[in-house]
Amino acid sequence: MSICLHGVAIGGGIAIGRAHLVRQSMEDVAHYGLDPADVPAEVERFEEAIRTTRKQLEQLRSSIPENAPAELGAFLSLHVMLLSDISISGDPIDIIETQRCNAEWALKLQAELLTEQFDAIEEDYLRERKHDVLQVVERIFKNLAGHDTELGIAEDLFDDTILIAHDLSPADMVYFKDSRIAAFVTDVGGATSHTAILGRSLDLPSVIALHHGRTLIREDEWVIVDGQQGVLIINPEELVLAEYRQRQRAWLAARRKLSSIRKVSAETRDGAQIELLANIELPEQVDMARESGAAGIGLFRSEFMFLGRDTLPSEDEQYEAYRRVAEAMKGAPVTVRTMDLGADKSPRWLSHGVADNPALGLTGIRLCLAEPLMFRAQLRALLRASLHGRIRIMFPMLNALPELKQALAQLAYAKEELRDEGIAFADRIEIGAMIEIPSAALVVGSFLKQVDFVSIGTNDLIQYTLAVDRNDDAVSHLYDPVHPAVLKLIAHTIKTTHRAGKTVAVCGEMAGDARMTRLLLGMGLRRFSMDPVHVLPIKQVVRNTHLDDVVPVVGRMLRTEDPDKIADLLDQLNAEPAL
Ligand code: PEP
Ligand code: MG
Repeated sequence: MSICLHGVAIGGGIAIGRAHLVRQSMEDVAHYGLDPADVPAEVERFEEAIRTTRKQLEQLRSSIPENAPAELGAFLSLHVMLLSDISISGDPIDIIETQRCNAEWALKLQAELLTEQFDAIEEDYLRERKHDVLQVVERIFKNLAGHDTELGIAEDLFDDTILIAHDLSPADMVYFKDSRIAAFVTDVGGATSHTAILGRSLDLPSVIALHHGRTLIREDEWVIVDGQQGVLIINPEELVLAEYRQRQRAWLAARRKLSSIRKVSAETRDGAQIELLANIELPEQVDMARESGAAGIGLFRSEFMFLGRDTLPSEDEQYEAYRRVAEAMKGAPVTVRTMDLGADKSPRWLSHGVADNPALGLTGIRLCLAEPLMFRAQLRALLRASLHGRIRIMFPMLNALPELKQALAQLAYAKEELRDEGIAFADRIEIGAMIEIPSAALVVGSFLKQVDFVSIGTNDLIQYTLAVDRNDDAVSHLYDPVHPAVLKLIAHTIKTTHRAGKTVAVCGEMAGDARMTRLLLGMGLRRFSMDPVHVLPIKQVVRNTHLDDVVPVVGRMLRTEDPDKIADLLDQLNAEPAL
C-alpha cells in the first residue's frame, strides 16, 4: 500500500530510492530472545563493547590538546569511572542471563532504570550527571552495533539510499556530509533548525517534521522524497513513480537554466548593485560557495568544525582550515563567525551540564567568554590566517555592548600574544557584530562605534522576538518572519547601521528565501548572505526588481501592525514580473 506524508520542505529537488532507517535513540533498540546456548556469547559481546569503549575513552583522554579546557580531562575521567561502575558494566550482564535477551535490550533496560534513579535526585549537580551516564551508554550502544559512525548507519550506503531518521543533530549532519546518499527525512525539526540549514547546504532533497515517518517506513522500501513540496511517498505506485521521474527531470532542467545568470551581476532593474554572499558550515564547502557565483563568504559557521568529533580542534588545525578558505576565496571577503556553540550545537567534549533552557543559556559569545582559552585559540588561528586572504571576524549572539567589549578585549589580547611571539597577522581586519537577539537590534547604535559591520541573524532574531523555538515543529506555525515586530527590528537595524555609514547584511534563512528578497531590498538591504544553492534564484529575483516599485509597498508594510495587511502587501510585492 502506498502512503503519502507531508512535512516541511527543505529543498534540493526530488529523490527516488530505498529507505535506510537510522538507529539513533534508545527507543529504536531491537529486542529479541536468545537460546540458552547463545547466552555466553552475548555476554562476551557485551563485555567486548565495554572493553572497546574503555579503550576509546582512554585514548581520548591521552590525546587532549594542550589548549583544551581543563574540564575536558575531568569529564573523560568521569566517563571512564562511570563505565567501571557495576551498574553499567555488570548489571546488564545479569539481565542478559536472567531474561535471555540481546545485549542492547539489556543495556536499554538498565539505562532506563538509571535515568529514573537520577531523575529522583534532588541535588542539581548530581542529577545532571544523568547526561554523562547516557553519553557513556550511547557509546556502548555504538560499539555493540559495530558502527564507526555516531549515527549507527550502515557503511555500505548506495547512491539511491534515503536516510530515514527520527531526528538528526547538527553533529550527525557533519558525519553525514561524506556519505553517498540520495536524500534524507526526519520526523522532527523546524525549517530554520541547524539540521535543516545543513541539510539545505548538502543540496539533497529533504523533508523534515514528518511526525511518523520513522515508524511507517520499513527498511529497504521504495520511497519518493519531494524536497520542494515537503512530501514523502512510501511504496509509490508505477503511475506516481513515472510522474515524479518527469518532475525530477523538469527540476534539473530549471536548475541548469538558472546557471546562465551565474556570471552576470546582481543588479536591480534600476541599477542598484546588490552583494550576494554565501553561508558555509565547513571549509570543504568553499568550492560550492565559489561555484555559486557568490561575491564572498558572508557567514562561515565555524562551530561546525567543532562538532561530530571527540576532541577540540587545535589552534593549528583551525588555522589551516581558515587559511584554506581564505586562499580559496582569493581576496573576496571571508566572514568567520566565532564558534556559536551551545544549545543544539553542544559537542560531547564540552560539558557545562544540561541547562533547563539551553537556547537561553550558555551559547554563542557567552560560552566563548566563559571559555577564554578556547576562544583565544580560535582568535589566534583567525588572526594568523588573516595574512592569506580577507578574513573578517564576527561575534554571535551578542546581547549588549559590554559583551561586545569583552569579546574585543579578548581579540586585543590574542593580538598582543601573537606580537610578543613575533607571529604576523594582517594590519586591518574588519570586525562585525551579529544581531540576533531583540535587545541587540534595539541597541545596535551602541555597537556601531566598535565594529565595521553588522549581520542580522534572522533565524534567532525571529525565535527570540516571538518566543518560538526554531527547532520545534509543534510551534512552527508561529514562527513568522513577517511578524510586524520582526520587521520593525530588522528595519531599525538596517536604518541605524546605514546612518552610521557602516554595512549591514542579513545572513539568516530569510536572505535565501526568494519571497523575502523584495521586502529586504525595500528596507534598504544591499547585502544578503545565504546557502550557496540559493544564490542564483535570489539573483534572478534581484534582477527582476525595480526598487522604485518596491520601496513604497515596503513602507506600507512597516507602518501597519495588521498581519493580514502585511500578508496582502507581501503578495503584492511578489507579484511577477512587475508589481
Ligand atoms: C541566525 O540566527 O540567523 C544565524 C545566521 O545563525 P544560526 O542560524 O547559525 O543560528
Ligand atoms: Mg544564530
